[in-house]
Amino acid sequence: MVALSVAAMAGGQVELDAPTLESFAAGLEGSLITQDDPGYEEARALWNAMVVKRPALIARCAGAADVKSSLDFARRNGLLFSVRGAGHNIAGSALCEGGLTIDLSQMRTVDVDMDAGTARVQPGATLGDVDAATLPLGKAIPVGINSTTGIAGLTLGGGFGWLSRKYGLTIDSLLSADVVTADGRQLTASETENADLFWGLKGGGGNFGIVTSFEFQLRDAGPDLLCGLIVHPASDGRNVLTAWRKFVAEASDDMTVWTVLRDAPPLPFLPEEVHGTQVIVLAFVYAGDPADGERELESLRAYGNPHGNHIGVMPFAEFQQAFDPLLTPGSRNYWKSHNFAGIDDGLIDLLLESAGNLPSAQSEIFVAQVGGEAARISADSAAYPHRDAAFVMNVHTRWEDAGDDERCVAWAREFFDATAGYATGGVYVNFVSEAEDAARVTAANGANYEKLQQVKAKYDPGNVFRTNLNVRP
Ligand SMILES: Cc1cc2nc3c(=O)[nH]c(=O)nc-3n(C[C@H](O)[C@H](O)[C@H](O)COP(=O)(O)OP(=O)(O)OC[C@H]3O[C@@H](n4cnc5c(N)ncnc54)[C@H](O)[C@@H]3O)c2cc1C
Repeated sequence: MVALSVAAMAGGQVELDAPTLESFAAGLEGSLITQDDPGYEEARALWNAMVVKRPALIARCAGAADVKSSLDFARRNGLLFSVRGAGHNIAGSALCEGGLTIDLSQMRTVDVDMDAGTARVQPGATLGDVDAATLPLGKAIPVGINSTTGIAGLTLGGGFGWLSRKYGLTIDSLLSADVVTADGRQLTASETENADLFWGLKGGGGNFGIVTSFEFQLRDAGPDLLCGLIVHPASDGRNVLTAWRKFVAEASDDMTVWTVLRDAPPLPFLPEEVHGTQVIVLAFVYAGDPADGERELESLRAYGNPHGNHIGVMPFAEFQQAFDPLLTPGSRNYWKSHNFAGIDDGLIDLLLESAGNLPSAQSEIFVAQVGGEAARISADSAAYPHRDAAFVMNVHTRWEDAGDDERCVAWAREFFDATAGYATGGVYVNFVSEAEDAARVTAANGANYEKLQQVKAKYDPGNVFRTNLNVRP
């Protein structure tokens, strides 16, 4: 190993000599990757190709002991560091420029305890890893909708998906977390142990420590559920979205229907001439008995003249990967997100108008239905404050060529501004693309933000966990 200049937490650089680096590397069960190593480019790749950062060091941890020694090393030497789960965060907070990335992506074990009805999940696990271990058993942790997303970042932000209306957010199934805190202590946080830390972890992002293990309550789901897609022409958009709004207002907690406005992907159940045309996709999961789901779905299924549908009782694990082909890693992405308490007529007009001029064929406007159990849990029960978000809209602006950056980003911002008047003002921390949105997070956290600051002051007074949407102590 050679001597390296590494970004310092306090600004400037820290010079680390070869023996210091060698002794750090030798103490790791995992590996230490530098910019000269052949695996470096792969190790620093993120889901969002818009974010290019080059850490000087990547510590690929094999377990909690590696996490602790990496954090100790960073602190002892005053290094800027970041924490990486599966690297999906849209803002690219998993990496830090020139510093040390504490990389948990190899820690992917999921242990299910059927007797206790719980699962222990390591922080590098993807949602696909979690689903593979739980769903075939008819059990689930309520997570998000794309299987390559990381459990760690998702949980620490709140976490919602197809099962949230029935079981609440991902954090509402979190029983405990093992955490390495800023001072190097290894603590367990739960309702009964370090309860303030536990509260902060549930929505406060990576501000308080590095989670080395999550313990979740398992929920009943499947293994087979009634799921599917109904694809309507955008020409009937106003009627479809109005019918969707009525349907979801009356839906049971088992039923969740999201709407996606985009150009039709080449789905096999759609006629070829529809591919690439503007459509409205109603995507749904019924989390209960499929026969009840068939009955509840009837009116939505019979509505209008869809181009086609793909509806059936299928392994939920399979449907959990239905959107993966549209959300592959390595493209350029820019997101803007609003929470809505309801869907106004004016908002429907804006959605349709904007869907008619999406800046690229891969872009889409996603409106997720949340509510149900997720909304019944009190907003001060966890750091996550947006229990009033009946709908979460995320504009997935997505393209390949860097030459299109300005145009695509401008489009997303314009659409975001136009729809702001209909929004609650809150924003999901995991959908925040850039620094300009940090103020929205602070403002939207309201009373919870003061408590977040208190927890931060207690567990990380020196703000060493700062390469995130930062809570200032
Ligand atoms: C394609 C796609 C689909 C998505 N779908 C959904 C969805 O359906 N529902 C939903 O709720 N969200 C969804 N998200 C958002 C997702 O929750 C965030 O991107 C989340 O940050 C991903 O977690 P990660 O571990 O992969 O992130 P990373 O980029 O690895 O980490 C993000 C940040 O989390 C913190 N962090 C990560 N691991 C730890 C740890 N062990 N201890 C302490 N801090 C840590 C760090 O600050 C880190 O910078 C989606 C994202 C993408 C890209």
